[in-house]
Amino acid sequence: MKKHNFSAGPSILPQEVFEKASQAILDFDNTGLSLIEISHRSKEFVAVYNKAVALVKEILEVPSTHEVLFLQGGASTQFLMSAINLIKNDGGKAAYINTGSWSTKAAKEAKNFGEVIEVASSADTNHNYIPKGYEIPTDVDLVHFTSNNTIFGTQFQAYPETEAPLVADMSSDIFSKPVDVSKFGIIYAGAQKNLGPAGATLVIVKKDILGNTGRAIPSMLDYQVQIKGESMFNTPPVFAIYVSMLNLEYMKAQGGLKVIAKANEEKAAMLYQEIDNNPSFVNHVAKEDRSLMNVVFLLNDTSRDAEFLDACTAAGISNVKGHRSVGGFRASIYNAMPKESVQALINIMKKF
Ligand code: PMP
Repeated sequence: MKKHNFSAGPSILPQEVFEKASQAILDFDNTGLSLIEISHRSKEFVAVYNKAVALVKEILEVPSTHEVLFLQGGASTQFLMSAINLIKNDGGKAAYINTGSWSTKAAKEAKNFGEVIEVASSADTNHNYIPKGYEIPTDVDLVHFTSNNTIFGTQFQAYPETEAPLVADMSSDIFSKPVDVSKFGIIYAGAQKNLGPAGATLVIVKKDILGNTGRAIPSMLDYQVQIKGESMFNTPPVFAIYVSMLNLEYMKAQGGLKVIAKANEEKAAMLYQEIDNNPSFVNHVAKEDRSLMNVVFLLNDTSRDAEFLDACTAAGISNVKGHRSVGGFRASIYNAMPKESVQALINIMKKF
């Protein structure tokens, strides 16, 4: 029986995407070859790559000022890659908003390349809100934030305003709603939540912010090299790109990001309503900052945690254990999560 999979990532993708992907492993488009045994430079794979890029541009309405890349090394490599490509070699500074573990890791990497200014932090309350009303210095080379905090269940509803290149880690909410890409210098996201399998990392970068640091950048980490090579400076993650392309086709067929966003709002509202109305459960995130992707909650009586997890397992609900740094539970309800699965979780919560 197919499980109700609430995993935070790698995570659920549409069943139709899994089916098409498994077919392409056996015989890709009636070529008599598996997708994963053909050259990345073959016309068949180049067509896949071009289609994936074109679909990202179409679905996210990426302006012509920006380039789309599929790189490797996960979002974690983008922590340093965004910094090395933007922070000036001589006296460079970068502003970081600290909303949890991932933004802390991003800031740590940036410290290798210049001064890092923490302009705001939610660490005082174990990251259960998104900071607001802070000032961002004007003389910085980039402003970095994490749009959705996968572990703490918070999400930026409005993005920081700055003249400096705005860099966003959108790993866990990319493609969940429309975004005005023109406002960003760099958007990056590990594929393994709303896009595709782990192994590909989506990067959308504004071309005219590059090449200004005065530092030597190793080729693999240089966005300009990657743009020139159309993500094929080395062998790209062909399977991950192919499955991402299938999922992008699926998103387009669904009606695009406005339709997807509405479904996400409905699913999250159902679950938060249950948490707020059920006296056994509680969510400590500031209401206006609650994530629509990762819903964290606790049992008021934590001695019953194991009992709740057992009840979930018995109902075919998997991966709802919270991250070790916050405890409790986390239901990741990405795009591909059916409403019925959210309802299945709610039913168990009601019984509890
Ligand atoms: N940023 C966010 C918001 C994440 O959720 C994750 C992974 N869960 C990462 C970065 C790290 O991504 P990766 O494992 O692709 O390096």
